[in-house]
Amino acid sequence: MTMERTFSIIKPDATKRNITGKVVSMLEDGGLRVVAQKRIRMTKEQAEEFYGIHRDKPFFGGLVEFMISEPVIVQVLEGENAVERNREIMGATNPDNAVAGTIRKELALSIGENTVHGSDSVENAKTEISFFFSDMEIVG
Ligand code: ATP
Ligand code: MG
Repeated sequence: MTMERTFSIIKPDATKRNITGKVVSMLEDGGLRVVAQKRIRMTKEQAEEFYGIHRDKPFFGGLVEFMISEPVIVQVLEGENAVERNREIMGATNPDNAVAGTIRKELALSIGENTVHGSDSVENAKTEISFFFSDMEIVG
């Protein structure tokens, strides 16, 4: 068990439906602590760079448009095995495949509008955290 940090986004479908508190509660109930958080409107350039790994996928254009359609909440979560733990609490990318009780099963609308993002490795978490936060903004 190691103390880790991961990067999380509460996506536009959640800010639009005014359910960001529910999402944070599920993360906190799952054992993670919010150590940095801000509500932003992502620019198109930010969204394209952030999801750059998916640039060649057919859903890329729609994904970028969705991420800039409403504000998002970007946050840093801390806890034991935070990267993996967050992915467990989030559930599978497609809510139809997600386990009951996970954020995506309970709250997501579709594979595209799936309520949350979470880093998929410790290395990517570091990159993604520094994409949106300076060290001074993270208060553990
Ligand atoms: P995220 O990176 O957002 O945490 P993930 O790691 O579970 O999600 P990825 O494979 O990295 O899933 O896909 C990134 C995002 O792209 C997904 O969360 C989803 O919003 C969108 N996406 C992925 N596959 C599809 C698809 N087939 N159709 C529409 N959108 C998709
Ligand atoms: Mg991913």
